[in-house]
Amino acid sequence: MTRTVYVNGEYLPEGEAKVSIFDRGFLFADGVYEVTSVLGGKLIDFDGHAKRLQRSLNELEMANPIEMDDLLEVHRELVRRNEIDEGMIYLQITRGSDGDRDFAYPEAAEPTIVLFTQSKVLSESPMVERGMKVISIDDERWGRRDIKTVQLLYPSMGKMMAKAAGCDDAWMVQDGAVTEGTSNNAYIVKGNKIVTRHLGNEILHGITRAAVLRFAREAQMEVEERPFTIDEAKDADEAFITSASTFVMPVVEIDGDVVGSGVPGKVTLRLREIYLDESRKVAV
Ligand code: PMP
Repeated sequence: MTRTVYVNGEYLPEGEAKVSIFDRGFLFADGVYEVTSVLGGKLIDFDGHAKRLQRSLNELEMANPIEMDDLLEVHRELVRRNEIDEGMIYLQITRGSDGDRDFAYPEAAEPTIVLFTQSKVLSESPMVERGMKVISIDDERWGRRDIKTVQLLYPSMGKMMAKAAGCDDAWMVQDGAVTEGTSNNAYIVKGNKIVTRHLGNEILHGITRAAVLRFAREAQMEVEERPFTIDEAKDADEAFITSASTFVMPVVEIDGDVVGSGVPGKVTLRLREIYLDESRKVAV
């Protein structure tokens, strides 16, 4: 089946979708994005993603080309047309182009909006049983990681470094403390306490993070939002990550040292279960 994508108001077969070579997303990474997962043909946490999208646009003084109600309809329509049961909807908005290249924001440019689907089984993964192995690397990204921009080169490099080391991902470290994973938020568990870095410009404010911390607190687990080091993580009982496409995923090894007993932890797996159950209930 040919994938149907959405570009600037039109639904098109992917091979017919076009964007200008002068688009600032292409020339300057002047764009923002969101990834929303689909379970059972329904969108998980759509409101959270829509709100964060608007925040990213505001921070960059970029116009929003679509009403939020219409955006929900486009997401749903793409799920329908591509018959997605499980997978992701990728959305990208760039500042567009005025037909030339100039560092200053163009005054007359219309934003470009693109959405496409990815069909993928998300609710089950061998990684849930075996757990992820991560390496630590220096965080060499720019200073506004709270804005979800499409400049993802360093995270891609981080994934390649992890791959070269025979691992699944990299946790980035700044001034001695873990910021986050290349495409996810990072957590450790010690006793009944969950520790994850506090919100700020240094990390993306994960939509899954917000939900998981809320569920953890509702389940009477203690949550501490503060920086933690790689040594503290190695000494923890459990570690895990969260993101829209992995939900809650255990981490069992950091820089070659096992975390806890080296298998996915109880708290982690419980949180994954709660997150999936609760999110499915309110999926749209
Ligand atoms: N941090 C980074 C750097 C990310 O790229 C992502 C996923 N896009 C996350 C955290 C997790 O955010 P979310 O739960 O909203 O997917």
